[in-house]
Amino acid sequence: MLQIKNIGKNFGGVKAVDDLSFSVDKGEIVGLIGPNGSGKSTTINLICGVFPVDLGNISVDDQNISSLPTHERVASGISRTFQNIRLFKDLSVWQNIWVALQQDSDQSAGWMQEWFGNSKVQKEKIKEILVFSGLGDRFNDLAGNLSFGEQRRLELARAIASKPKLILLDEPAAGMNSDEVADLRQRILDLKKLGLTVLLVEHVMELVMNVVDRIVVLNFGKKIAEGSPENIQNNEDVQKAYLGGG
Ligand code: ADP
Ligand code: MG
Repeated sequence: MLQIKNIGKNFGGVKAVDDLSFSVDKGEIVGLIGPNGSGKSTTINLICGVFPVDLGNISVDDQNISSLPTHERVASGISRTFQNIRLFKDLSVWQNIWVALQQDSDQSAGWMQEWFGNSKVQKEKIKEILVFSGLGDRFNDLAGNLSFGEQRRLELARAIASKPKLILLDEPAAGMNSDEVADLRQRILDLKKLGLTVLLVEHVMELVMNVVDRIVVLNFGKKIAEGSPENIQNNEDVQKAYLGGG
């Protein structure tokens, strides 16, 4: 469903992403890993349209999205979380979801307009998303008062509120303890059960190796390996890249 073909992105002299190609099938969870600075976040930003690709193209369900603005990519079913938590800490949990939906609502499909036509329906829908995300009892609390793990859950809740078909997660386990990682793993598997397609950028191997179907490894913006978790764990090029040998 996601096809990335020969994409490239330069920042000044740095080839952040260099002739990268890979694809993700519908319903698949693919891990995108690599050392710091290897181009993982840039790849997510290119898929979301934060900036355009210099070269190559990106398509979702055979539609070339390479030159669409971000909001049209959201409307076409792409959603993301950020490497650094970006919540409105002075707003309540439900308001954080509401704001995100408002931002998307003028561009997106009719179902969202239906929500906003009726604020009671809207609140019920938000409640549903929060219950699904394990935040049902936090509906009215300030986002800033949530624990770290709960804030990450709220980010995920916000990302699924736009009813995406493809979700891009940028290091969702960063800073989590192992109980929180186990909870996150289950939540990612729940997304898969709903039929979502997931691209997971992650450093926490305990999560990556136990949740993904397939892994793509980057180093200096290039793909250096691709395969099953077992395959990647035993790959010498990958081990070298992580030891800093390039
Ligand atoms: P990763 O997420 O794998 O750690 P990034 O995609 O963030 O790596 O970064 C890849 C390279 O691109 C790094 O050298 C980084 O400094 C550079 N880079 C990323 N984003 C920008 C930007 N907006 N402007 C300039 N350089 C950037
Ligand atoms: Mg990054």
